[in-house]
Amino acid sequence: MRMTILGSGTSHGVPMIGCRCHVCTSTDPRNRRLRPSACVTNGSETVLIDATPELRLQALAVGLDRLHAVLVTHTHADHIMGLDDIRRFNDLAGRSLPIYGSQESLDDIRRIFQYAFMETQMGGGKPRLDLALLDGTARICGMDVTPVPVLHGSLPILAYRIGDVAYVTDVNYIPPDSMAMLRGLRLLVLDAVRPLAHSTHFGLEQAVPIAAELGAERTLFTHLSHAYDHAKTNAMLPAGMELAYDGQVIDLD
Ligand SMILES: [Zn+2]
Ligand SMILES: [Zn+2]
Ligand SMILES: [Zn+2]
Repeated sequence: MRMTILGSGTSHGVPMIGCRCHVCTSTDPRNRRLRPSACVTNGSETVLIDATPELRLQALAVGLDRLHAVLVTHTHADHIMGLDDIRRFNDLAGRSLPIYGSQESLDDIRRIFQYAFMETQMGGGKPRLDLALLDGTARICGMDVTPVPVLHGSLPILAYRIGDVAYVTDVNYIPPDSMAMLRGLRLLVLDAVRPLAHSTHFGLEQAVPIAAELGAERTLFTHLSHAYDHAKTNAMLPAGMELAYDGQVIDLD
């Protein structure tokens, strides 16, 4: 089992348009952050978590050419606007792809990508998305995938536990029942948008103690803004915790 970080950036990406700060102008490739996404590969099958507006670039960057399912955390633009790029994965696989999420997310996708679900001309092709409600643990690509409810400000969204790995983005509160679902992890990927608290995300000041409480063997922080210089921040983090970076591969076998 292997996780690949496809994007570690916040919704603006890093560098941010029009910013000349030391991180946005850094030459360290780990300070260049595409929108937040990861994939988990088990044998020959790969699950994508969220489809960012940069999905095509992310797939090309890591040589991702096969997908078997997509998990959607929520429907903010930085998490779903790449769903049209699923066309290419449909073509390569010769079939439609299951898109898992909450009922709210599936309803949003049907509305936002309306053309994909209508009988219209094909033109350059339409993504073939099989919307699939995930309201409990399901076997996906040979892995147990469990939706974990969390809060993103006032918005209820989903984190996902995939075997001993969890991906918890766009969160500023994890209810006690969900904390219990995130115990015993080998790898936790957790939102820490910036060092200080934020109204809809954990800042690093909340994310570090929560990661310590959950006690995963290894924690990567993601959805990162330009407020972090990768090397400087990593040097200050507790053992077992680090900032994610684009293209990072974590082998769990
Ligand atoms: Zn986001
Ligand atoms: Zn900047
Ligand atoms: Zn969001």
